[in-house]
Amino acid sequence: MPFTDIIGHDKEIEILKRGILQDRIPHAFLFAGPNGIGKKMTAFAFAKALNCERCKDDFCGECQNCRAIDGSSFMDVFVVEPREPDYKGGAVDHASGTIKEDDISGIQQRVGYRSQKGSKKVCIVDSAEKMNRVAQNKFLKTLEEPAPDSVIILVTCKPAELIPTVLSRCQRINFMPIKKDIISGFILDKLKCSKEEADVISSLSGGSIGTALKMDMDWLLKKRRHLIERFEGLSLDKAEDILKFADEIAKEEDLDAILEFLKIWHRDIMVSSVGRDEMVINMDMLPVIKKHVSGFTAERAVNGLMAIEEARRNIMPPRYANKQLAMENLFIGLAR
Ligand SMILES: [Zn+2]
Repeated sequence: MPFTDIIGHDKEIEILKRGILQDRIPHAFLFAGPNGIGKKMTAFAFAKALNCERCKDDFCGECQNCRAIDGSSFMDVFVVEPREPDYKGGAVDHASGTIKEDDISGIQQRVGYRSQKGSKKVCIVDSAEKMNRVAQNKFLKTLEEPAPDSVIILVTCKPAELIPTVLSRCQRINFMPIKKDIISGFILDKLKCSKEEADVISSLSGGSIGTALKMDMDWLLKKRRHLIERFEGLSLDKAEDILKFADEIAKEEDLDAILEFLKIWHRDIMVSSVGRDEMVINMDMLPVIKKHVSGFTAERAVNGLMAIEEARRNIMPPRYANKQLAMENLFIGLAR
């Protein structure tokens, strides 16, 4: 699998390839950009390109080194990720884990070793913003006195959480969200769905192929319609229906995704009501959206969006409001 198999990051990859060809590779990179758009994948691809036995500024994916890197058995290429504390099991956890001082000592040790014959050491620090302050300060030393033949790649979606002295010592490469039509084409190729459905998935993916592929097709293509049918049928005259709907929704595992979708639904009706159909995300449901445009005011849209966001915040930590009550409140507020 060569660099060309990585979708939508031609410019970013060009910078990396140029560095290899000109033999001018910085000791440290910062790969910054939203989650799930391919930063870590590109970091691994770069590690392979630096160590591939067959290619100069690319990788074959088949030689011994490439395969060892893919199988995490190549000693000189390794990843550091945030972990939960030992008393919680110490598992990798990108949401609430931390990269600590000890992890930085580990990096310093590993990049300090003499590398295998002719290979380049690559340390990928994933979710680098999870380094705590002590770790970042310690890490600074590694950046100031880089080990020979080593490259450190900090991968992060929140570069602002890294201290300026760390940031200034890395060559920053900004990864942009992948364009909608590129994702749509990829999805169409990969999944058995219509062009319209591929466009919806692409719009909802936030520029991330990873997110697009993880989306639950069943929910996207069936549940969404069912949800809207029920939601738009809610009426203050039928309080019982509202309570039943709230109860069902509150029990859904993907409650957060449902609320996010309802926000997008409100947004879609709003943009359609001002004649900007081309900006609608749920394009495959445009006829249904059109049906609800009449009688829909900007005020109602804004109030709806705010109410959904408020409900979302209420049920999440640290508030942990009762989900059913929160949903009842929300749907009574949103029903006509
Ligand atoms: Zn290779």
